[in-house]
Amino acid sequence: MTPAERRAEREEGEYKMQIEVFDKSKDKNTIAFIWKDVPVSYANTMRRMMTDEVPVLAIEDVELKKNSSALYDEMIGNRLGLLPLKTDLKTYVLPSECSCKGEGCAKCQVKMSLKAKGPGIVYASELKIKDVDVKPIYTEMPIAKLLKNQELEFDATACLGQGRQHAKWSAAHVYYKFMPKLKKGNEIILCEKDKAEFKADKISLNKPNAIKALLNEANLELTEKAGAEITYDKNEIAFYIESWGQLSVKEIALRAVEIFDAQLEEFAKEIKKK
Ligand SMILES: [Zn+2]
Repeated sequence: MTPAERRAEREEGEYKMQIEVFDKSKDKNTIAFIWKDVPVSYANTMRRMMTDEVPVLAIEDVELKKNSSALYDEMIGNRLGLLPLKTDLKTYVLPSECSCKGEGCAKCQVKMSLKAKGPGIVYASELKIKDVDVKPIYTEMPIAKLLKNQELEFDATACLGQGRQHAKWSAAHVYYKFMPKLKKGNEIILCEKDKAEFKADKISLNKPNAIKALLNEANLELTEKAGAEITYDKNEIAFYIESWGQLSVKEIALRAVEIFDAQLEEFAKEIKKK
């Protein structure tokens, strides 16, 4: 659809943004959909809102009391910061927006501690977190390996933050690509691990596995080498949201929209003053 056609449909009230989900995980951590008739700049704005603006919890301060492991204190701190923590956005607010004015309170931070003695591996599950609803997503993530008589003991504080401050506060990996199209009659060559076989002119875009096979880079490379003609439809975007686990993909997408709305309102308010 050309921009002019889209504008005409919009004016007649017939324009509808279409979203077709073709992949979704049971744990609600990933979703992939075809986003039709959406300008690419819009899709990219949503991507950036999701990765850079949607806040999640991460450990920010660590007070090490004992560390006789082989890892430097800084490395322990770095590893702790990267542990994804289950986040409830109804309970916590960003420290900069909290009524305590960033001093730190139960609304903007959560305290935790850990005490371990070797030998053995210290796992994320050993963290004693003050809020029972905040949990490490991947309980088997190792923090450090301790030899006999080595010890690790610390207090830590986690708070909400945003991906644009530090990658540890990023809620998801979000990316998109234009939908590949094969010339009628061309076959898609499937790589070994894809068992299904079908011809391009018979692929129905309503079939989730057909879309996935077509979006697979390895399949496309083989298909192109075999002489097929591949074009990319800029009106159809395959959009992927992969949560790191702190929030569900739905929470990430909806919060991103809320944040963008608030930013637009602020922009309008500022413009009105000028
Ligand atoms: Zn506070």
